[in-house]
Amino acid sequence: MKDIKNLTFEELKTYFILQDEPEYRANEIFRAIYINKVKEFKEITTLPKSLREKLSNEFYIRGFKKVSTLGDTNKTQKFLFELKDKRLIETVLIKENTKKGKFRNTLCVSSQVGCAMGCKFCATGKMGFIRNLSAGEIIEQLLYIEDAEKIQNIVFMGMGEPLANYENVKKAIEIISDPRGRALGRRKIVVSTSGIIDKIYKLTNELKSVRLAVSLHSAFQEKRNFLMPGLKIYKIEDLMQAISYYTQKTGNTVTIEYLLIKDLNDGEEDAKQLIKLLRKIKFVKVNLIHYNPVPFADFESSKKEKLFFGILKRAGINTTIRFSKGSEISAACGQLATKESPINLNNL
Ligand code: SAH
Ligand code: SF4
Repeated sequence: MKDIKNLTFEELKTYFILQDEPEYRANEIFRAIYINKVKEFKEITTLPKSLREKLSNEFYIRGFKKVSTLGDTNKTQKFLFELKDKRLIETVLIKENTKKGKFRNTLCVSSQVGCAMGCKFCATGKMGFIRNLSAGEIIEQLLYIEDAEKIQNIVFMGMGEPLANYENVKKAIEIISDPRGRALGRRKIVVSTSGIIDKIYKLTNELKSVRLAVSLHSAFQEKRNFLMPGLKIYKIEDLMQAISYYTQKTGNTVTIEYLLIKDLNDGEEDAKQLIKLLRKIKFVKVNLIHYNPVPFADFESSKKEKLFFGILKRAGINTTIRFSKGSEISAACGQLATKESPINLNNL
């Protein structure tokens, strides 16, 4: 059995043509799965019965089993899903109250089971790499949550390095944003990467309006190599060039994510080096992230968050700190690890 969500609209059209079916079946399927949120082919009554049966024998629409939900329904919830091969992934739903009593729901999705980058502060990195998620598995995180809640934004900040699974992430974005289906605007999607340079260029050229966040964590090469060993093949200056290319080509602002760790990357010289680096980039914003300690690392959260923030601000850099009430939650979004890892879900 195959996941029908792995097929783009064009692929689905080709499939139906090969089956001697009219092309518009692809429209019917997209509408059923991504707008009407149908879970089984037998519910798609616009299709002839024989076709419904044929599709049911070949494909499935939903494949997740929910294992658990953690957190407060009005704020942030973590969902643990079991995939067909029994692997586990996490998805985080972040609810924010905006002005005028409206809600803004952001979904933090996983792109891999585990991650190969081995960042020293990250629970997913500790798991090591297990496998890539398929496009269908990335999409299903959204569909599952949207059975209950409408989502306005998607961030690829869950488990895994999205640009190390570029083709499936790209496909998932194409399907989610397809106007004949869910039609989520690409500007509402943020891809957060630890900095896979060649894929930043590819993303810029192929998925233009998607937003980019880059986890830098240090402007010094040596420190970054220490913190993010899987990325040491990349030079920071080359990374900056890729980021510049993205901002110039898309006109979008890039977000630099910077985790503040006590006595490691939170000093004045660290802030100065960061300023020097970012001077060359026109549209840039820094998001300082409160470090949430993980049991396997010997790091502590920095106490100099405000100080660091002040230095960047005075240098004219647009900076925010993720440490208010919602911060444990947002940070938890980057701290995902399932039961397969030694760390458990105790971040909320
Ligand atoms: N692989 C991608 C996306 C997933 S991680 C990336 O690294 O950007 C998403 C974010 O969570 C990253 O910025 C990461 O640095 C952050 N994160 C990881 N571990 C964390 C921790 N212990 N405390 C706070 N944020 C953490
Ligand atoms: Fe992977 Fe991102 Fe965690 Fe680094 S921070 S190990 S790149 S998920």
